[in-house]
Amino acid sequence: MAAIKQDDLIESVADAFQYISYYHPKDYIDALALAYEREESSAAKDAIAQILTNSKMSAQGRRPMCQDTGLAVVFVKLGMEVKWSGATMTVDEMIHEGVRRAYTHPDNKLRASVVKDPANRRVNSRDNTPAVIHYEVVAGSDIEITVAAKGGGSENKAKFTTLMPSDSLADWIVDVVPAMGAGWCPPGMLGIGVGGTAEKAMLMAKESLMESIDMQALKSRGPQSRLEELRIEIYDRVNALGIGAQGLGGLTTVLDVKIRDYPTHAASLPVAVIPNCAATRHAHFTLDGSGPVALVPPSPDDYPPVQWRASEDAKRVNLDAVTPEEISSWKPGETLLLNGKLLTGRDAAHKRIKDLLDSGKGLPEGVDFKGRFIYYVGPVDPIDGEVVGPAGPTTSTRMDKFTDMMLSKTGLLGMVGKAERGPTAIEAIKKHKAVYLMAVGGAAYLVSKAIKSSRVVAFEELGMEAIYEFEVQDMPVTVAVDSSGESVHKTGPKLWKSKIAQIPVVSA
Ligand code: SF4
Repeated sequence: MAAIKQDDLIESVADAFQYISYYHPKDYIDALALAYEREESSAAKDAIAQILTNSKMSAQGRRPMCQDTGLAVVFVKLGMEVKWSGATMTVDEMIHEGVRRAYTHPDNKLRASVVKDPANRRVNSRDNTPAVIHYEVVAGSDIEITVAAKGGGSENKAKFTTLMPSDSLADWIVDVVPAMGAGWCPPGMLGIGVGGTAEKAMLMAKESLMESIDMQALKSRGPQSRLEELRIEIYDRVNALGIGAQGLGGLTTVLDVKIRDYPTHAASLPVAVIPNCAATRHAHFTLDGSGPVALVPPSPDDYPPVQWRASEDAKRVNLDAVTPEEISSWKPGETLLLNGKLLTGRDAAHKRIKDLLDSGKGLPEGVDFKGRFIYYVGPVDPIDGEVVGPAGPTTSTRMDKFTDMMLSKTGLLGMVGKAERGPTAIEAIKKHKAVYLMAVGGAAYLVSKAIKSSRVVAFEELGMEAIYEFEVQDMPVTVAVDSSGESVHKTGPKLWKSKIAQIPVVSA
């Protein structure tokens, strides 16, 4: 039985987090390529094309597929007979060190998103540590490791409930998914944990997302257990909601539904659901003492021949000369190509702006939103030769409570972000005859190629949350809320839900 070296575990964890930052699992690519072929909604098809094109570009450029490079989650199956050679660290410390090396790698620095003291000061740890680690002690002398990088947009949509034993689990999931909105960047997967206790159900839901996508194979061979029947039922019913890619309305919202279960109390039916997003990122390896693990890169042939291009009817917009009159002519669902200067800002910058305006101090020199658009983004740091690292949109609803302030007090014309807006923001957009545009979440490297220059304008100490000025060229966006308050995230799914209901069900 060979002993495992500390450095082999550290190096393997570091390599695996680098690997998953730019390589999607093949099963995700295959399932998304099939969804692309089948998609009939042009808006959803365009979004899937962007995600597929972005995936291939990330693999070729070995740069993150999404600007949110995730919180590091590690599942460890530790053999009871594992022997260590010269280890001076605990396994926790080795894993944290692997995460630190991955996220600070000079050739592909990943975005550090972890904050310490979460209920108070929320200070960035700067290297994305600590990881969240789960252990299981198993028979044998190996260590099996699964690493995942979980994006905040999808993690924020996790839900838990305790149903009555007689309640329908499928009904609860079908009610809960529309309430998640599109901030979890569908198409993705749903991981469901059923039974055990509250924390056990959540853990099972997360762990189920580490399984390969096999829904089409399951449907072809037919279910062989009640849980498999339930997976198919939930998959079909969730897709029939018509939410579609990025919530734009379409045929595919989920590519698979996974369920894990565990015995529970006779009085309880605990259920947890966690979505996995367009940046589905996980890798698996085993250490047996023979050295660090080398994960095999995908072949270029693993990617479908899909190359996103802006549609011919996309409208070019000059951000440096755009007027309220022009904005009011834009219709929900319309594709625009943005050109000119954009300011950026997300949670922390909005909070600072509010505090400064409330205190009467005014905005820092050089920050002028009058007649401008703001892009909700926290980019990855650039590496050699890049203007900016991957820079996709972040979830816009977090900025809803600041929207009226921004539109009324700064002269802002509109916003660019990800997924739907809530009622408060839509009301403000309507009141100020502004507009909200959405970019595709999970297409961050593709979007970053439209950014031709970048400079920090204010709040440099906030790092990725600073205010930048980007100069963009043909940055693709969709009009998501027009100046009358009509939202494509309401009209799109409604339309596709009714279209799907009219599609005849063909039995296999
Ligand atoms: S794809 Fe969307 S939810 Fe996933 S990490 Fe990226 S921005 Fe977050």
